[in-house]
Amino acid sequence: MLDRASEPATGGSGAAGAFISPKLGKGGELLKLTNLAFEIASKFYTENFPKYFDKSGIVRLPKDEKDEENFTLYHELVGGKLLNESELKEFGIKNERVGLYFQDGGVCDAQGLCKALIKDVEFRQFEVKELKQEQGVWVLHSSSGEIFAKRVALATGHEGHEFLKYMGIRHVWGSRGDFYSDADIKVCMHKTVSVSRNKDGIIKIGASHVKAKSAIEACQICDGEPLKQLIEKASEFAEILNLRLKETFCGMRSGSHDYFPLAGKVIDAEFMLQTYPQIKRGYKKAPIKYIDNLYVINGVGGRGFVFSPMLAQQLKALIFQGREVDSRINPDRLFLKWARKLGRG
Ligand SMILES: Cc1cc2nc3c(=O)[nH]c(=O)nc-3n(C[C@H](O)[C@H](O)[C@H](O)COP(=O)(O)OP(=O)(O)OC[C@H]3O[C@@H](n4cnc5c(N)ncnc54)[C@H](O)[C@@H]3O)c2cc1C
Repeated sequence: MLDRASEPATGGSGAAGAFISPKLGKGGELLKLTNLAFEIASKFYTENFPKYFDKSGIVRLPKDEKDEENFTLYHELVGGKLLNESELKEFGIKNERVGLYFQDGGVCDAQGLCKALIKDVEFRQFEVKELKQEQGVWVLHSSSGEIFAKRVALATGHEGHEFLKYMGIRHVWGSRGDFYSDADIKVCMHKTVSVSRNKDGIIKIGASHVKAKSAIEACQICDGEPLKQLIEKASEFAEILNLRLKETFCGMRSGSHDYFPLAGKVIDAEFMLQTYPQIKRGYKKAPIKYIDNLYVINGVGGRGFVFSPMLAQQLKALIFQGREVDSRINPDRLFLKWARKLGRG
């Protein structure tokens, strides 16, 4: 595993509140996929990394009055336990009439978990400046030298890579805060922001969404107070008195155009455009050529800790058993649309 940083989880993964929460909605494939990933993630962390996963349960609260009307439908579609006002109060939730409790939800220790995940993996600080294939071998160049590899999986977050341009990876900045508190909060909860239970005197609140192209632009927008709005929003529904800031974390999420995550092979876009220029005019029958031994795992948006165990399982089966990934996460879905857009200028 290579990263330009000296340790793992300095990118979006380190900034994450890392809440493990299901998706609520009225149906559709993204709802099904996210909630499958939620089940897989909760089980995976519970079985393998219980020290870094606080499975306290999570209560989902309506975003507004209109959303509240849908809670019975969400309950039917997604499950969970419907809670009334007095049950919510017992958990430390105020001003709310209805909530859905999911016992498999919770929150991860983002940095601790990422470090534990790569415990037996060789990790090297190495900034990849160039990635080239020479005689069937990948050569990764940096100012400090070269590394050779049979296969490469790009997990570069919001920075993406030239090879991934057809996937249209986009980014949204965000911040979370860890606070010292003696508030009696017994579960994680999510409304417009998420609040963790009070564990060992610490509560996490996350996360903001800031449309910015860079950290500098984001800091200008936040005007030095990245957590201000988070605290205001959290105070509307959580009994969070007497917060003392412990630490602020900021980072970039990386999402896909259609909100589905990305894991799989990488199409040789250059080759395809040169060989079949008609794909820019909507031709759909050109046989797809992939770049040999190159893979991607990305596009997890605000659900990196929810999606990643499922994506990793799928990618592992693809690489080592040749099993195709679930079509919903397969990046191929984005290629023809991207090529057609090029044709329209
Ligand atoms: C504020 C915030 C709150 C979030 N909250 C949650 C949450 O509650 N629940 C949840 O499930 N998810 C959450 N997420 C989303 C999520 O966990 C992360 O966005 C996700 O983990 C991203 O993982 P990644 O590996 O794709 O990218 P990153 O963690 O950003 O990792 C990419 C890495 O690639 C390295 N890199 C890039 N280019 C190069 C190069 N050329 N050479 C060497 N190294 C390179 C970078 O240094 C970086 O370390 C949140 C994200 C943010 C920012």
